Amino acid sequence: MKRRRRKKRVLRGCLSPAVLFLLLVLVLWILCARSCRQESVEITEAHGVPVQTLYIREGDAARPGIKRKIKYIVLHETGNSAKGADAARHAMYLRFNNEDDTSWHYTVDEKEIYHHIPDGEVAWHASDGLDNPGGNRNGIGIELCVNSDGDFERTFDNAARLVAVLLDAYDLKPDDIRQHADFTNKNCPETIRNNGRMEAFVTLVEQYRTSE
Ligand SMILES: [Zn+2]
Repeated sequence: MKRRRRKKRVLRGCLSPAVLFLLLVLVLWILCARSCRQESVEITEAHGVPVQTLYIREGDAARPGIKRKIKYIVLHETGNSAKGADAARHAMYLRFNNEDDTSWHYTVDEKEIYHHIPDGEVAWHASDGLDNPGGNRNGIGIELCVNSDGDFERTFDNAARLVAVLLDAYDLKPDDIRQHADFTNKNCPETIRNNGRMEAFVTLVEQYRTSE
């Protein structure tokens, strides 16, 4: 009898930390599920501009599958002035020909938008690793096409329509619209920055947010 009682006490002594540990893991998991990830919203059009979906394959280096909280919109320009370097061309590149891990969420041209990675997943576009908070970790990366046979003014306008939808979808503010240059030493989005048009872009976004 004595021995059994001692055994029970020993068992209770061993189980308690284990149970406590499991409880701690459970609480952390619940807290993380609330604060570390966000459900992606699927959009098929942004204030009249069609949004096509061609996701990068799961498991590709460009799509690490890391879930995160969305805090920023990060603007970029492709820097690719070649004729035909439009959103569809970039989508095909990311889906079938990407040889490194570069990636972003949307590409915008003068006629349409392509969606490459669900918004709730990290993409590699802001040159800041997994800084927390950071452009990669918390930003939705949007590339504006600058192909010489495109119409940048319309691309600029279409990007504002997309950003308006995303701000509403994820409850973000105009201050959350950032530039690649905010996260690293790179002059991107180049033409917007060189022409001092960031403020005009944010104003345009706000106009689309209040229009129906
Ligand atoms: Zn950039």
